Amino acid sequence: MIRCPRCNSKEIYSVVGGYGGNYYRCKKCGYSGALVVEYDNDEVPEEEHVLQKEYREEVHEYEKKRRPLFWVIVALILIAAILFIRF
Ligand SMILES: [Zn+2]
Repeated sequence: MIRCPRCNSKEIYSVVGGYGGNYYRCKKCGYSGALVVEYDNDEVPEEEHVLQKEYREEVHEYEKKRRPLFWVIVALILIAAILFIRF
């Protein structure tokens, strides 16, 4: 992913120069030159952030669902222990 160094637009495309060197031209502001801003993973950080947020929410939901079950099991064990001690 490349961006225009002047206006930070994604609307930039490479034009092959006459002597083997590439240069770029921006559709938005009309910039042209060899210098562009390059991003290796332009869209990934945001996606990862969303995925991590979803994952955390899932874990949170899971914890919320699991907690009452945990106490039910604890209660059952206590009841079983009390019954076991009585007999
Ligand atoms: Zn531009």
